[in-house]
Amino acid sequence: MRSYFVGPWELSEATAILPETPGHGRILLIESQAKGSALPYHRHKLVLVLSALRHFRDELIGRGFEVDHRVAPSYADGLIHHARQFSPDEIVVQEPAEWGIDRSIRAAGSGLSPSTRLTIRPDRRFLTSRAEFTAWADGRKLFRMEDFYRWQRKRLGILMTKDGKPAGGQWNFDPENRKGGKALQKHGLPAPPKHFAPDAVTAKVIRLVNQMPDHWGTTDGFGLPTNRKQALATLDEFIESRLQWFGPFQDAMVTGDQYGYQARISAAMNIGLLHPKEIVDRAVAGNAPVASVEGFVRQIVGWREYVNGIYWRTMPDYRHQNYFEFTRPLPQAFWDPDRTDLTCLKAAITSVKETGYAHHIHRLMILANFATLAGVNPLRLSEWFWAGFADAMEWVELPNVIGMGSYGDGGLLGSKPYVSSGAYIDRMSTYCGGCRYNRSERTGPNACPFNYLYWTFLDDIKSKGLDVGQRMQLVLKGLDRIPARELADMRKQRTRFLDQLEPDSTGWQFHHDQG
Ligand code: FAD
Ligand code: SF4
Repeated sequence: MRSYFVGPWELSEATAILPETPGHGRILLIESQAKGSALPYHRHKLVLVLSALRHFRDELIGRGFEVDHRVAPSYADGLIHHARQFSPDEIVVQEPAEWGIDRSIRAAGSGLSPSTRLTIRPDRRFLTSRAEFTAWADGRKLFRMEDFYRWQRKRLGILMTKDGKPAGGQWNFDPENRKGGKALQKHGLPAPPKHFAPDAVTAKVIRLVNQMPDHWGTTDGFGLPTNRKQALATLDEFIESRLQWFGPFQDAMVTGDQYGYQARISAAMNIGLLHPKEIVDRAVAGNAPVASVEGFVRQIVGWREYVNGIYWRTMPDYRHQNYFEFTRPLPQAFWDPDRTDLTCLKAAITSVKETGYAHHIHRLMILANFATLAGVNPLRLSEWFWAGFADAMEWVELPNVIGMGSYGDGGLLGSKPYVSSGAYIDRMSTYCGGCRYNRSERTGPNACPFNYLYWTFLDDIKSKGLDVGQRMQLVLKGLDRIPARELADMRKQRTRFLDQLEPDSTGWQFHHDQG
């Protein structure tokens, strides 16, 4: 008999490889103790994964499948113990979603008895297989998401006209999609995404997670989708009621709001409750304007597939990329938002601490922007993102943090460092009005820290002659307009600010490949 290992990144029929019918194979589900304690994961993340795994188990049993659900010291141990107990002819594994686990499962395979074969099948949780990404990337000097995205659209025939042109006559509607927080507030916020009250399975998991030591946040307010039906309901609700305005407001942030018009589907997607193809198909088939649909499709068909491709192409070295050679520890405020009085930063960290979620611009232009301007070591930042977000898996957080968020890879993934002063945050949000700092001042007791951190960061780049890409040349030119004396004052202020930045004192350990 054949066994099928289903990992916690493929917890539904949309993404798992399953026996064709019950009776034609046994399904193996593993809760790895090593994985659960590898990082101080947010409790919402633990509830999400454990609850979804148990919901899928119950669904499979209900459909007549034989399921071996086991708690094991690690995934590799679980696989070996399963093989010893059931002696399958073959164990089928879909390529695991994480580098360290992929390696340990392959190693476990070589330790199985000769009568059990381990077969690793290509990952079909994405639209692009690892081999297809390699075919696209090989021979290119420069990786650019935009090139990859157009290649995807043509290859997959998504939002393309019959004569091979992009739907709506443009590849990119970004210029129409940049409304800020004040415009969003005026326009009106939508109802937040669906909240699913814990059922009996989730309630049991919540009790279990509450007893686990050394994890961030609480289980309070957990309401993420934990099964396919709920994930589809979340997706449908987004497509019917928020996608229409997703495009114009995708970068906007409003005080007191977490989601705006975002989909909030990443957590469900990353544990396999939804497949990207069905998401794109539904978005394209809906009635939303093409600028919004394109903006959304770009995230799924472009960014999500692109970062997965970069991850598998560059691991394990990618983790340690640190182009600017930053050494600062993570600020303690990232764990405890009460330790900062920067209104925008406090709002973003509070959102993560309460729910394991923050939207893209919080992640990129507040959290990662601040950490980069403050010189935080990219790996320390990446560990925080990996532990803190319910949707975090290493394949997606790492390229986003090391590549997009910190420019740690020196421009492999993105064409420039995503950094900004307070002016950008003020344009895209409503935070500055309620902040004790003044976003227009660059020096003095009320100066917005993003301002002096930003200009001195640019000045460091210029004085060290670092290559930060063509797109930054105009930005660096802006330094010429700042008097040398003001720059010197900003440097002093930066030193004072950074000296007072409390370093991470949690003592939490991060075991990257433990699983
Ligand atoms: P929407 O804005 O509604 O977008 C729709 C979907 O597109 C998302 O659900 C996601 O699946 C996909 N997507 C959009 N942007 C990206 C991207 N840059 N990379 C990959 N997929 C993308 N996303 C994660 O899923 N897990 C992470 O751990 C994660 N860490 C991030 C860290 C940083 C520093 C940054 C800048 C981005 C990170 N992202 C991560 C990408 C993105 O911010 C989230 O996918 C998005 O905010 C999730 O919310 P949503 O479902 O409401 O997304
Ligand atoms: Fe953030 Fe500066 Fe605006 Fe305050 S003034 S909210 S610190 S950007």
